[in-house]
Amino acid sequence: MFFSTSCSRILTSTLHKTLFTRKAHLISFIDRGRIPLPLCISTRRILPVQLCRTMSMYQGGGSNSQDDGAVHVIDMRSDTITKPTPAMRQAMANAEVGDDVYGEDPTVNALQEKTAELFGMEAALFFPTGTMGNLCSVMAHCWERGSEMLLGDCAHILIYEQGGSAQLGGVHPRTVRNKPDGTFDLEEVESKIRTNDPHLPITRLICVENTQNICGGRVLPLSFLKEVRSLADKHKLLVHMDGARLMNAAVSLNVPPSEILQYCDSVSMCLSKGLGAPVGSVVGGKKGFIARCVRLRKVLGGGMRQAGILAAAGLLALTDGAARLHQDHENARTIAEGIHGMDPSVLHIDLDTVQSNIILYHLVSHAVTPSQFCEMLNTYDPKDDLDVNIRVVMFPFDLGRSIRCVTHHHITAEDVQCVLKKFRVVVDRVAAMTGKSADKSSS
Ligand SMILES: *Cc1c(COP(=O)(O)O)cnc(C)c1O
Repeated sequence: MFFSTSCSRILTSTLHKTLFTRKAHLISFIDRGRIPLPLCISTRRILPVQLCRTMSMYQGGGSNSQDDGAVHVIDMRSDTITKPTPAMRQAMANAEVGDDVYGEDPTVNALQEKTAELFGMEAALFFPTGTMGNLCSVMAHCWERGSEMLLGDCAHILIYEQGGSAQLGGVHPRTVRNKPDGTFDLEEVESKIRTNDPHLPITRLICVENTQNICGGRVLPLSFLKEVRSLADKHKLLVHMDGARLMNAAVSLNVPPSEILQYCDSVSMCLSKGLGAPVGSVVGGKKGFIARCVRLRKVLGGGMRQAGILAAAGLLALTDGAARLHQDHENARTIAEGIHGMDPSVLHIDLDTVQSNIILYHLVSHAVTPSQFCEMLNTYDPKDDLDVNIRVVMFPFDLGRSIRCVTHHHITAEDVQCVLKKFRVVVDRVAAMTGKSADKSSS
């Protein structure tokens, strides 16, 4: 294989020092100092892709893989683990900054203007996190004490944000049941809208989540959002979208985000997930709503000063980060199809559910628990076929026997093939165990 100029320089210095001297059998021929560098790997202990990974560690920011000896670690726990690209680090270092509490950080202002435009909304505001963006949005909409919001029972706002809307915002949450596709039944919503009665809270807000995380990265259909909007209008309610992965939804539907958001009063979008920024979220909405958010953000502790350093990465997240999301979706699709083709007595996946960068699959076999299955993926056994000396990291999911994995910008097309190889080894092993336990129970 051949390497780029910068790669081969790294090879001759670091790789030669580390791999060549430590494991002399690794590389049968290395022509030091000549560029490009033809390299033969004489052992099956390391894949070309792993060698590239080893090198990209030295380039900084290009890879999340931890080099665990010759074992390559592919981390698919979440798209939140993404590290900023070299271009982002450069932009951060060079960012023009000012005091954002005075509204004087030009890079933050540029990010907010660009995002507002992208959202098709009047204004936008930079936040440290999506959790804070959601809380602030809910509080800004539910300004009056005794207000209530309606949201799905699988909503991130309900489950993973410590009940902040109630704890800090004094907003009463009332749930409707999420369908597996991330939507909910609008008749159920309507039946839960309060009448004007001093015994009852005041229904103010409907929250939707797009893509719906717990349901497996499901993309809400535009037709559903349109119906939510007309129901909200009929009852004079507001609509907030937890759009942590809004751009994934837009890419999946192949529409601009503004087309999705035409049905919403506000949105909170994470820059720090698949888009790749190290920190940050943006909330969009009408000018009056954003003015309230500025006040609320301050009391919640989030007036940041020279935040342009972070916003600079956010600007690249909006452009470069968004432009490559389709690759994550294609990789997720390939993994899902691979899993679909494996032993159905071990794993099950419904391919229609894989619509973005999240893959939710199910462990059918009871020979191992979901945690044990993940542990097997995450263990390198030297007795394994040497082509799969990798560890793959993912989480069992809360509900049932589901396991979730997520693609992101550190997962390459080669990684996808490695992941599938590892899956095959582990699935074969579980299938053998399943056979044994079935024998035992029948005897
Ligand atoms: C990650 C996430 C959030 C919260 O974002 P943080 O930046 O981690 O606080 C909110 N909603 C959904 C659906 C998410 O996936």
